[in-house]
Amino acid sequence: NFRCRSAFKLLEIDDKFKLLQPGFSVVDCGAAPGAWSQVAVQRVNSAGTDPELPHGTVVGIDLLNIPPLDGAYFLSSHDVTDPSTHAKLLALLPNNQAHVILSDMAPNASGFQIMDHEKLVAMCLSLIDLAEKILRPGGSLLCKYWDGFLVNKLQEKLLSSFNSVRTIKPRASRMDSAERYFLARTYRKPAK
Ligand code: SAM
Repeated sequence: NFRCRSAFKLLEIDDKFKLLQPGFSVVDCGAAPGAWSQVAVQRVNSAGTDPELPHGTVVGIDLLNIPPLDGAYFLSSHDVTDPSTHAKLLALLPNNQAHVILSDMAPNASGFQIMDHEKLVAMCLSLIDLAEKILRPGGSLLCKYWDGFLVNKLQEKLLSSFNSVRTIKPRASRMDSAERYFLARTYRKPAK
């Protein structure tokens, strides 16, 4: 039983791209009410459900409260874009590193499409700063965006620190016409 239907988007993406492996450390940005974290806990085995497989780690962050979940640490009432959140996050990750950053974050929609698009792109850009602090070389970032004029810039920015970037439109999100995800894979630290 998932807390929210959004779980099916992540299941669909992960079935295809195998981002979440047993033993992996995952950061779930914009995690409330916790459905993506439920999927991540199962797939990385962070609740230790399969004693034969390595145990992973799941850390979820949201401005809102995230009800507790076995196998996950939650930073409720935390802003992902705030650098003070990053330090707390680091302390919860084994070796201070994540294999995967997931983001289903979205600002409250104002109804002004261009403004909402710009806000969400700014949030995605802040995930690139977060990646620089916590993502392992070779790691992946999956982030939601709303389609619009800044998408090419965002993709270029991702390509400056990941080897590949693809656009995903899950079948489970077909009702929301502007919603897409970028899957950026094989992280390398950007040259300074
Ligand atoms: N993936 C979640 C699930 O499956 O349960 C649903 C996520 S919901 C679509 C988007 C969430 O992003 C909201 O709960 C919202 O509070 C959160 N959010 C928006 N801006 C944020 C920020 N700056 N920091 C943390 N969370 C944020």
